[in-house]
Amino acid sequence: MTSAWLGRLAGGVAELLLPQRCVVCGGFGAALHEECVEALPRAAGARCPRCWRPGEPALCVRCVGEAPLLTGVDALRAPFRFDGAARGAILEAKFGGVTALLPPLARAAAACVPPGWDVQAVVPVPLAPRRERRRGFNQADVAARTVAGALGRPLEPLLRRDRDTAPQSTLGAAARAANLAGAFSARGVAPARVLVVDDVTTTGATLGAAAEALRAAGATRVYGLALARED
Ligand SMILES: [Zn+2]
Ligand SMILES: [Zn+2]
Repeated sequence: MTSAWLGRLAGGVAELLLPQRCVVCGGFGAALHEECVEALPRAAGARCPRCWRPGEPALCVRCVGEAPLLTGVDALRAPFRFDGAARGAILEAKFGGVTALLPPLARAAAACVPPGWDVQAVVPVPLAPRRERRRGFNQADVAARTVAGALGRPLEPLLRRDRDTAPQSTLGAAARAANLAGAFSARGVAPARVLVVDDVTTTGATLGAAAEALRAAGATRVYGLALARED
């Protein structure tokens, strides 16, 4: 019995017992170690407190102007930039089905919700039913469940996606908003202050469209939370 063979055997047993390897450090034990979350690219530094654009310590020029980038949601937060290992982790969760990557990211997201928002419910952005059936899960659901738990607020899947839309990533800013018009509707009555959760945000158009449906259902304040923002 050679030591190389023994090494392979030990490696194989480890793979069986601990199949997950961390996307950041490559170590065993978790899809993403809690300590490795710290190594992900943070959406740090000065940011517009409303739309979360970088480099703006106060309300940004877009938010004080007549054509704000962010519509529908009152304000937006995301703990990470959609870049590097954060981008890798989210894509691996979404398309590789490694949903275990989402809770550590979502706990970081919950930690950047300002206490003053005082939300009464956490609502995931739904996928179109056909897309969710194909994927087997909705990454925003998984993230929102963790956020709700961390904030001690109920998870309320109040939204329905009434029609499938072109992937937002294929469109420019103006087309993104048009693409989503009327895409969501709410079931039942929404509480006054709601947090709507998605995996990634760029212009906030998806969160904004979801927020409009929640306002139509009675919400007066709708805040947006994503795991990462594409700056
Ligand atoms: Zn790690
Ligand atoms: Zn702004």
